[in-house]
Amino acid sequence: MDKIVSKEDYIQSLKDQKHVVYYNGELVPDVTEHPAFKPHINCAAKTYEMAQRPEFEDLATATSHLTGEKINRFTHIHQSVEDLIKKVQLLRAIAHETGSCFQRCVGWDALNATYMTTYEIDEKHGTDYHQRFVEYLKYIQASNKMLVGGMTDTKGDRALPPHQQPDPDVFTRVVERREDGIVIRGNKAHQTGAVNSHEVLIMPTQFMREEDQDFALVCAVPLNAPGVMQIFGRQTNDQRHLSSEMDIGNPQYGLVGGETLLIFEDVFVPWERVFMNGETDFTGLLVERFATLHRQNYGGCKGGVSDVVVGACAVAAEMQGSAGASHVKEKLAEMMHLTETLYSGSVSCSAMGQKTASGAYYPDPLLANCTKHNVTRHIYEIARLAHDVSGGILATMPFESDLRHPEIGKYVEKYLSGVEGVSTENRMRILRLIENMTGGTALVESMHGAGSPQTQKVMYARLAKLDMKKKLAKDLAGVSD
Ligand code: SF4
Ligand code: FE
Repeated sequence: MDKIVSKEDYIQSLKDQKHVVYYNGELVPDVTEHPAFKPHINCAAKTYEMAQRPEFEDLATATSHLTGEKINRFTHIHQSVEDLIKKVQLLRAIAHETGSCFQRCVGWDALNATYMTTYEIDEKHGTDYHQRFVEYLKYIQASNKMLVGGMTDTKGDRALPPHQQPDPDVFTRVVERREDGIVIRGNKAHQTGAVNSHEVLIMPTQFMREEDQDFALVCAVPLNAPGVMQIFGRQTNDQRHLSSEMDIGNPQYGLVGGETLLIFEDVFVPWERVFMNGETDFTGLLVERFATLHRQNYGGCKGGVSDVVVGACAVAAEMQGSAGASHVKEKLAEMMHLTETLYSGSVSCSAMGQKTASGAYYPDPLLANCTKHNVTRHIYEIARLAHDVSGGILATMPFESDLRHPEIGKYVEKYLSGVEGVSTENRMRILRLIENMTGGTALVESMHGAGSPQTQKVMYARLAKLDMKKKLAKDLAGVSD
């Protein structure tokens, strides 16, 4: 397939590529047919489908600055502040239709971070990574492939640098340099959307020192390349995918992203797909840029997801007769306030974006980090309020199979009823949606996705100008050194 345009093209492309994925100890012959993956695939497919819908053309497509062609925005390099803001608007719009993570932003952010950084590596070192990367980007824009951004290594002993690890493969590394390319070995963990992506753009997981040159690596690898395999992670309530449509809560789009442990067992990468090879002095910058670009997103996608949670709570309250209660209205208002606070963070870091030397635009890193940090708090508070408004039934509801049961179904129907005229099934469905969107995996993703809160706090120490603030205080207080 030359170009993936529609949802159907996308699904066919995944069938065709025959990548190696294990689920619960078994090799999956076709990821598109597996019940645990279908919701994730439907989510990611929205990024293709919405680009074809006229009402989303402005948000979901862009004009390539390289070719002038119309492209999917998920392959675009941000050319202005307006592009940065459209990114956030697009994410909120897609989350409205999926109520879940649609995964493709990770690869998009990896493309932008690599684009900016390779330009600067070449300026300093006289290498030609940027031109190589531009050729690769043209290929991705023309084919409309989905990338996964491969950043997080499993890291083994956190107290040791990569080259001192008893098993250095816990950091992805170059094990051989050949005339035609390199051979890599290692892993990337928590790989959102990898099971239904086409390629991975590998980046270093952290700042690397001189001694860790083999780990200062950026390269692109097709997920069906020999030696690449994936092991899918467990998610909260994942068995429900195998037994019930209703109990999943969000049956079409499921839980958050869907993560794998991605393994590279001596994978060959030709030189034209290598975009950093030992330049340790740029590893910190690349990591920071990727992290900032991804943290920029979180008030967009989580804002959109929270809109759905607020709506679901309002519907649940109507169904159980509590919508008129002043405390319920108050809690819904609080949830909306938190949602808009998240969104405004994403918009503001975009509005304060700056042009990099490469020409690509980059969000304000301090504000982007604050935005993600707010997500680690506000999503929990929104979930807490959702649980409060919904009631304990959220945690004690019987199975769908009980509702459908020839003998006991009538009791579920009778005793779980709410307001007259509302079917018990509909009430159960909306409560299951709330349970799905505010429970285990969804919350942990808000905490650790795009980096744990500590990684955001580290950025304040660097970017928030504490010395300047101390001086302001001293000046006002009349304190002289
Ligand atoms: Fe995109 Fe949000 Fe999912 Fe990250 S968590 S991949 S920003 S939808
Ligand atoms: Fe994420």
